[in-house]
Amino acid sequence: MPPESHAPSVRIGHAERAASPQGTWRAHFAESVAAHQAVGPDEAPVRTRWRTRFAPAPTGYLHLGHVANAIFVWGLARAFGGAVVLRLEDHDRSRCRPAFEDALLDDLDWLGFEADIAPTSSYRLTSEGARSAPHPYRQSDNDARYVAALAVLEQQRLIYPCTCTRRDIASLVPRTTGEEARYPGTCRDAPGDPASTLARRMLLDDTVESFVDLRLGAMTQQPSAQCGDLLVRDRSGGWTYQFAVAVDDAAHGIDVIIRGEDLLSSTGRQRQLSRRLGGVRLPLVLHHPLLVHASGEKLSKANGDTAVRERRRAGATAAALIGEAAHLAGLTTSRAPMDARDVASLFLVT
Ligand SMILES: [Zn+2]
Repeated sequence: MPPESHAPSVRIGHAERAASPQGTWRAHFAESVAAHQAVGPDEAPVRTRWRTRFAPAPTGYLHLGHVANAIFVWGLARAFGGAVVLRLEDHDRSRCRPAFEDALLDDLDWLGFEADIAPTSSYRLTSEGARSAPHPYRQSDNDARYVAALAVLEQQRLIYPCTCTRRDIASLVPRTTGEEARYPGTCRDAPGDPASTLARRMLLDDTVESFVDLRLGAMTQQPSAQCGDLLVRDRSGGWTYQFAVAVDDAAHGIDVIIRGEDLLSSTGRQRQLSRRLGGVRLPLVLHHPLLVHASGEKLSKANGDTAVRERRRAGATAAALIGEAAHLAGLTTSRAPMDARDVASLFLVT
């Protein structure tokens, strides 16, 4: 689809007038959308149709943070006439459970968020209780895709085996609490026997990645300084989050990656990875706020009051949860109930 000839303008909704710290984000959004009219060679042109993805991991139950993410994912896709992909990110086999997958499909249906591509029904068990055929949007069904992507990187001599344990790296890298451990490149300089471990890293160059977040504005990140050479497969043969997501976003034709601010640091490294995999039209990104209680306390699953499943059992309506999540994400001035079909109103363009 050709780029649009003019930027859609963003109609500022009632939440924009809110005096909250997040109240001005949509002004950034409007500016960023306009800025993307002058697209570089590796930027996605602004299109009137945006393909987004909702990509939960079946490692637990859906909680209010997922609901907030869904509001952005469905809202932007609907406002821009795009399509939503439902991807099940079960690359970490040790933490995923079929019961969680069933529960998240069920909760998503209950909330009323229906994907256009790979809807919940496509993931359901057959009447015989068996999984349907390998699913193109379920990560564990697509090992061949990651194997092929790894081969592309290997052909460029960007991959080396890493025999370091987590403890090795921790002992080499002094870091303050909360700071990301940067891999010091131990095995880059003295590669071990590839047969001795399944762990593989990708060489990162010193490129500074510049991109525009649709909410936060212009960003720069230097992945080689943040995390060092990127782990793409772990010792047990599991694909890492960073690798699987970059491969999938390209394979699924995602135009806009929408996720929480806690994953902002992933963007630079995923961009470098995507380019190495041959990507020429990298996705736009929007990182939304993580939910916090009115007290400012970070809302987490551990709080117990945020699981969709529990709130459902306690008698909450889907619209009440969506209204609450929209408010906690800074999108509305009140917790008024909101139907999943109406979330586009929060992002309307004219
Ligand atoms: Zn190593």
